[in-house]
Amino acid sequence: MSAAVEVTGAVKSFGAHTVLDGISLTVAPGKVTVIIGPSGSGKSTLLRAINHLEKLDQGYVSINGELIGVSRHGDRLRELPERAILAQRTRIGFVFQNFNLFPHLTAVENVAEAPIATGAATKAEALDQARALLASVGLADKENAYPRQLSGGQQQRVAIARAIAQRPGVILFDEPTSALDPELVGEVLSAIKDLASTGTTLVIVTHEIAFAREVADEVVFLDGGQIVEQGPPHQVLDQPRHIRTREFLGRVL
Ligand code: ADP
Ligand code: MG
Repeated sequence: MSAAVEVTGAVKSFGAHTVLDGISLTVAPGKVTVIIGPSGSGKSTLLRAINHLEKLDQGYVSINGELIGVSRHGDRLRELPERAILAQRTRIGFVFQNFNLFPHLTAVENVAEAPIATGAATKAEALDQARALLASVGLADKENAYPRQLSGGQQQRVAIARAIAQRPGVILFDEPTSALDPELVGEVLSAIKDLASTGTTLVIVTHEIAFAREVADEVVFLDGGQIVEQGPPHQVLDQPRHIRTREFLGRVL
């Protein structure tokens, strides 16, 4: 069986600054990988590269065995046309730090938008599914609310329902709780935990170490654009082998 996510030899520089310095990472289907690391270590760039929102200088990404954003011609990779990239992107869910909901659409319309736009479902089917997904993240009573009428935690739960609605092969989360007031963090982490228990493949960047310990099959510590250490949570978080991991955990715990 193909890996759900496979990153091979990813290198990305901005000017003289190498932000991803040869990253290779495999996520098996249904597994949860949590990426931790200091600010500026390349975590967001790595997630964006998986979604082909950043083009790699070297290396490639595949999802369920399919190359993302490029096609292979002998030894060379060639960029796919924008339309093909957009189609691939609908199969990769992305939950952003700042929710990124459509402000002019209600909660249920936000969740139904992609399945309708891509023709994956009729409007009626997509709205029915969206109501069920909102109920599954505890927002059955908010389906007709606009984003501005919702708390940050509620908006992020709508964003999670929206990501699931596309039935993606993998959902990427970039610090999904770091823009939230502390009392709203728990409800969002709990929605992600429920999602993890359904066997959806997740890649989550977070500073919530207790959450990582609970939900991760694998923890990856990134520093300076390189994977310094990776393994099961009890190993990386409780018995880190590398001094840089220990120093980082000492600062965030
Ligand atoms: P993290 O998410 O771990 O905090 P990022 O992946 O956002 O780190 O960024 C890693 C480094 O790359 C940072 O130093 C950041 O300033 C730089 N960087 C990210 N995106 C760009 C860009 N579009 N142009 C220039 N530098 C960038
Ligand atoms: Mg980031």
